[in-house]
Amino acid sequence: MTSVKDQWLMKLRGEIPEISPEDVQKTLDSDGRGVTVLDVRESDEFRQGSVPGAKHLPRGFLELRAEDVVPDKKSRIIAYCQGGLRSLFAAQSLRKLGYDNVISMAGGYSRWKQNGHPFVVSSAGPLERRQESEKVPASLSAELPRLHSDVDEISPRDAQALAASGGAPVTFLDIREGDEYRQGHISGSMHLARGHLELQAEGKLLDPMRTLVVYSAQGVRSLLAADTLRRMGFGGVHSLAGGYERWAAEGLPVEVPELLTDRERERYMRHITMDEVGEAGQLRLKKARILCIGAGGLGSPAAYYLAAAGTGTLGIVDYDVVDRSNLQRQILHSDERIGMLKTESARRTLESLNPDIKVVTHNERLTSANVDSILSRYDLVVDGCDNFPTRYLVNDACVKHKKPNVHGSIYRFEGQVTVFWPGKGPCYRCLYPEPPPPEMAPSCAEAGVLGVLPGIVGALEANEAIKIILGKGSPLVGRLMMFDALDMRFRELKIRRDANCAYCADGRDFPGYTDYAEFCRV
Ligand SMILES: [Zn+2]
Repeated sequence: MTSVKDQWLMKLRGEIPEISPEDVQKTLDSDGRGVTVLDVRESDEFRQGSVPGAKHLPRGFLELRAEDVVPDKKSRIIAYCQGGLRSLFAAQSLRKLGYDNVISMAGGYSRWKQNGHPFVVSSAGPLERRQESEKVPASLSAELPRLHSDVDEISPRDAQALAASGGAPVTFLDIREGDEYRQGHISGSMHLARGHLELQAEGKLLDPMRTLVVYSAQGVRSLLAADTLRRMGFGGVHSLAGGYERWAAEGLPVEVPELLTDRERERYMRHITMDEVGEAGQLRLKKARILCIGAGGLGSPAAYYLAAAGTGTLGIVDYDVVDRSNLQRQILHSDERIGMLKTESARRTLESLNPDIKVVTHNERLTSANVDSILSRYDLVVDGCDNFPTRYLVNDACVKHKKPNVHGSIYRFEGQVTVFWPGKGPCYRCLYPEPPPPEMAPSCAEAGVLGVLPGIVGALEANEAIKIILGKGSPLVGRLMMFDALDMRFRELKIRRDANCAYCADGRDFPGYTDYAEFCRV
């Protein structure tokens, strides 16, 4: 069965002429003055880049603002969106408003940019918490009586009572633009911007018979949206009279989510674009507190990427100073910082990469005495230490505090990465109940290490940490990833919990910290 969306699109394709980006460019070059290029995407899409000279008229506001943006109804209009579908609907709405000469750009802004045409990035200042007016223009006032009679309107109090009545489930549907929704919305509401309504309603709302309370800022755009949904075959559609503003003014429950700043949205755009991260994921990273053990070979790339990715609070434990022999691999530091504390050098590098994060330096050796107070302030540990006493201490403390421990180690040309996540998989002691005898475990200083190797292994650790914070993908729990740089081979070993592990076995009380130097005979 064809969806309503597909039927409508087929019909639109027969009605609205489409033009390639190349022909748009030619038209602008030959007769730029007589043509209005109209960007119908949402504000944040427009800000990221648009066709030079284009006017902005978000699809959601089309009927309300068309006369202001394009006063002359005889204008030749080329409408475009991101992929070329929303602009077909926008062109149709414009025709209904009396604009006869409207065409749509095939493939939208994506294809425009892909094909190498020029674009401008809006230098608009920071987005203020703005109220969008839904003032009804003359062109729409003729249509209003029909909308009021065709669409069921419901007051905020009645809508809330309906939702609380325990009858059919009620979904509050916010059809405002993304930036309006992010500034505050009805608690528990779902967001689907009006510009995407025809294209996504069937997929996202699934059950066409559920009760929908559609709302906008003041109740006008929601009338138009509810009318569209009604025509798509959705039953039980109401428009919230007075919109979000009246709902909030009457003291009904709202949610004001924590926001990324405009600068953060710009910085993390390549994250936000992906569904697996999105704005919500970026906010999780912003709230995350990650502790890096060591600002050396592994800690350098791990902390560098965690800072770049927007980890809100990054703790660095190290008590050493920068030595020239570190610089072959420890990329947080530099030649002019030789002799400086590594924590301080790390802080400077990370803050200059990303001034929006907080770097906390712990300039001390990690011991049984301070590990609890340091670790309890973080969500997750990235272990990049280079010695056995610290490795066992970090493991035991992570078991005690039930914090995921992203573990990495390196030796000459070989590296290992895994995640020790208490309760979900083995700990370090499940693998190695006892440390190796010291003569079997030479340090990097004695055995050497290929400079790029910790770069690879530390970056893998950062990758695991970010996945854990986002709650996405399969973390390396119960899997030991082994890397051989000379053969360029990755190998994965299954590792299991030891049912008798002295630290992490089920039901076992934490046995306390030990004398780690003694335990490791160093
Ligand atoms: Zn264990």
